[in-house]
Amino acid sequence: MGIALRPILSGSSGNCIYACSGGTHILVDAGQSGKAIEAGLSAIGIPGERISAILVTHEHSDHIMGVGVLSRRYRIPVYATGNTWRFFERHGSVGRISKELKNIVEPGVRFAVGELEAVGFDIPHDASQPVGYSLFAGGRKATVATDIGCVTDSVRENLRGSDILVLESNHDLEMLKNGRYPQVLKDRIMGSRGHLSNESAGTVLAQIMAPNLKYVFLGHLSEENNMPLLAAGTVEGILMENNINPQLDLKIMLADRHGPSDAALVE
Ligand SMILES: [Zn+2]
Ligand SMILES: [Zn+2]
Repeated sequence: MGIALRPILSGSSGNCIYACSGGTHILVDAGQSGKAIEAGLSAIGIPGERISAILVTHEHSDHIMGVGVLSRRYRIPVYATGNTWRFFERHGSVGRISKELKNIVEPGVRFAVGELEAVGFDIPHDASQPVGYSLFAGGRKATVATDIGCVTDSVRENLRGSDILVLESNHDLEMLKNGRYPQVLKDRIMGSRGHLSNESAGTVLAQIMAPNLKYVFLGHLSEENNMPLLAAGTVEGILMENNINPQLDLKIMLADRHGPSDAALVE
């Protein structure tokens, strides 16, 4: 029994990644209205009541907007780090989540969600205690890592060994530098706690490439400072410079901004 993964939404307008193993169906983030996420799930044939957990990466609204609504509607357990929960409680970001649905993620400590195991790992981003997640089942590993300011050793180590990867490829550096964003926002995005460029995504991918890595979704693409073909082209160019054939050795996919992407399945 392996893992299937399918991005439902990806980008600054909302993020939600669906993953399943056997009878366990989970979401990593639910950053759109409950209605939009339910529509995305229903487009792939998954009713809301089947979801057994929502794993939250961090408190930015493009990752949490639907968390409270879906959790209350279907009594879905929510997982987030301690400081993320403290932020929620201080700001009321996800409304009231009952005690028995509230789970605290300790980065680096594995926990079970039905037939899946998951681990959160620290990522550098301008949030309270942001994490990426690796999911494990049947000897397979799928990792979701977006909203990363820079690739730290810990990020790189946690990406290693993945069969499926959702990796941020947020912006093209030249487009961002020459674009119309105010300088303060450009500095935030390019900073070590901002977002990952296409170049950095390609570089880390070349570093962690291994025979079992079969599917890479480039995600959280900027609408303003990136283009899907440019992101894929830049990443593939870097892979080729490192003697990796992006057509044969793995499949590079783009996570769609507004709706479900193709599915990746490793058995
Ligand atoms: Zn985000
Ligand atoms: Zn963020």
